[in-house]
Amino acid sequence: MDPYAAALEHEQLLIRRGTRSGLFTMVAVHSTARGPSLGGCRMWRYDDARSAMRDALRLSRAMTYKSAVAGLPLGGGKGVIMLRPDTVLTPRVRRAALEDFADTVAALDGAYIAAEDVGTSARDMDTIAGRTEHVAGRAARHGGSGDPSPFTAIGVEAAVLASVESVFGSASLKGRSVAVVGLGHVGLRVARLLARRGATLLANDIDPARRVDAAKLGARWVTAAEALGAPVDVYCPCALGGILDHDTAGVVQAPVIAGAANNQLAADDVAELLRGRSILWAPDFVANAGGIINIAHELRPGGYAKAAATADVRRVGDTLRAIYAEAAAREQTPLAAALALGERRLAEAPA
Ligand code: NAD
Repeated sequence: MDPYAAALEHEQLLIRRGTRSGLFTMVAVHSTARGPSLGGCRMWRYDDARSAMRDALRLSRAMTYKSAVAGLPLGGGKGVIMLRPDTVLTPRVRRAALEDFADTVAALDGAYIAAEDVGTSARDMDTIAGRTEHVAGRAARHGGSGDPSPFTAIGVEAAVLASVESVFGSASLKGRSVAVVGLGHVGLRVARLLARRGATLLANDIDPARRVDAAKLGARWVTAAEALGAPVDVYCPCALGGILDHDTAGVVQAPVIAGAANNQLAADDVAELLRGRSILWAPDFVANAGGIINIAHELRPGGYAKAAATADVRRVGDTLRAIYAEAAAREQTPLAAALALGERRLAEAPA
């Protein structure tokens, strides 16, 4: 079962036209079984409301599984501010849209907690916080946990180490090679962390400006195709989703795939294909949970504490080890084992 599918099992879908911006703002609450639903607010251009709704529905469902597998006392939700193809996003329109979205969040009375996502920033969360308390991921000076990317990167590092250990019997990266694709907020940090552990790096990004960053890390710059088929120990996708499909899964040479990108598999059965080729794939929603694990610490009594949050983020490695052990025992894919863990956690809710 694909956690990104939009199966209509959601608790709420609220769509409102903003009185200030005239734009649709929407929130999908997939589940509050384990706690309030938390998920990013995506500000994105859509051709029609159906695609925006679909995004909200499928991404909120994925959040339910991501948080449940990470053992967090949170449910899954997602917000969307739907820009039209012709919307001119001036600072005034942006503020109006964020305030309209804040009213939609407030109307849900705590069932959904907003955070940043594609198209929104910690600063936007401050704007939303002017109208509702149900917002997380604000800047540190406002008591928030700030940019989630460094924590997502620490979680991905833990995922790489656990996966390498599972395949090679040791988590050491000395003498190991990693191809990192996408040197953005998360990918560049992951590359840095892995280089520090002694890994030899190959790097690729569609943005040629990233070559400078790659060079600083001593990484060899390669094309996307070269990265995919490189005879490395780890392939680390940190760009966009859908990178592993029925064709590309047959090209990967690395015995381990672990990275930050969301929604890496174009279809669920690609996980079987990888398993058939003895490639260990770290389920994306487990490997990239560091950001949400960190934000969840804001909601703890006593507020956010970075050291405790970081320690929890590193446990992504333990979660993966348990998933790999179960997958091996049941002769199934890590994806199937991770989804089964999510189902069990949801059944035993509340957290
Ligand atoms: P980002 O936009 O900062 O970085 C993405 C990088 O990938 C950019 O440098 C971009 O140029 C590059 N890129 C885009 N398409 C590419 C392609 N086809 N080939 C090679 N490079 C390409 O994003 P980010 O915050 O670093 O997130 C990276 C991935 O991790 C995304 O899939 C995101 O959904 C996921 N993720 C991020 C976080 C987080 O905390 N930021 C949390 C969970 C998951």
